[in-house]
Order: sequence, then C-alpha cells, then structure tokens
Amino acid sequence: MAMPGERLATEEEFVPGENTYVEEGMIFASAIGSVVMDGGKISVRQVGRHIKLIGRDMLVIGTVVESAKSVLFVRIDDINVEGKEYLALKDGKILAKPPRSGGPRFRGRRDSGREGAPEREEREDAPSKPCNLGDTILARVQFNDKDSYQLAMDRPETGVIATRCGVCGGEVECNEQKTALRCLECGHDERRKISSLYGRSEEIKRLFE
Ligand SMILES: [Zn+2]
Repeated sequence: MAMPGERLATEEEFVPGENTYVEEGMIFASAIGSVVMDGGKISVRQVGRHIKLIGRDMLVIGTVVESAKSVLFVRIDDINVEGKEYLALKDGKILAKPPRSGGPRFRGRRDSGREGAPEREEREDAPSKPCNLGDTILARVQFNDKDSYQLAMDRPETGVIATRCGVCGGEVECNEQKTALRCLECGHDERRKISSLYGRSEEIKRLFE
C-alpha cells in the first residue's frame, strides 16, 4: 500500500509508471493504492476513491495568504468534484516578476534595471503582482517544486476569481474588460489579473470535472 507523496524507489531502480511522479531522481506515489512492480516499471494501482495529487499543469484554486516583496504565497485548496479528490500537499507561490529564461539569477534584477536599462521597465498596464492578499485565485501549476507549487496565471481562465476590497472589505465588481476591480462601497479601484470566469462559480467547478 502506498500513500500519495510516499517514496517508492529511485529512478535508477525503476521506470515511473501510472500514478507516480518523479522528483530529484526519486519516484513517489501520486495516489493511494497498491504498489505494482512489473518489468522494471513501478506503478500504483488505485483502490477505492480516486485520490490524486495535484501535479504539473493542473488548475488549482487557492487563497493568497502572504504577500512578500517579490512573491505571493498561496494556500491551495484540496479539490473534490464528482467523486474525484485532488490533494494539495504543498503550498503554492507566485513570483511577482517571473525571471526570463537565461536571465541573471543571483544579481538583483530590480537594481540592474535601474542602473541603465530602461527597456526593463514594466509596461504601464502590467501589474507587478497579478493578485493580492486575500484574493481567491484560479492558477495553473507551472512547476511542481520540492517544497511548493510554482503557480502561473498565464491563461484567460486563470486569475482572481473572488475577492473583497483591500481598503474597506466591501464587495467588488470587475469591469467588462476584466482588468480592474471596483469596490461597490468606497469606490476604490484595484488592478488584477482577473479570470475570464470571474464570478461564474458553476463554470469554474466544471473545469475540475
Ligand atoms: Zn472599499
């Protein structure tokens, strides 16, 4: 019997089969079930309810619980739709400015941008943080890192799906272009990456069926 997240073998010993995933050369179970070793392949045969781990490229729903300088931390909800259950064993994070591939990794990007590369400056209409504390978001798992899921909001349906006013806590509505939220109580405006499914909970639910 294996539980989701349980270490089964190394990649040198076995080829990862069904209901497994690989992290740093180790093969882990992604579902509850019995471990099957067959012809050099290790897999998990599921039993009972369909419990799976959230993995790469899956859509997830979560709440932004902490906002640091360049990263947002997201508590990911377990998803349970139509008898299928997906477990989030780790929290998620969203980088405020995703590093371009090949870009400097250890140099302060912010500083080098100020020194003499005005082209690095962000476009006016691109918020540096796509969402904020307390937002409920729909995001895609971009990378399944060791300690967290790195989330992206790079598709039309990904983005903020519900929130309250950051100033007074009032109810907000989003504009038709889905670029900004306005508080119905105090009129405060906030820019976000807003999901094309903002406020359409039935359609959001259907994404997970
Ligand atoms: Zn308000």
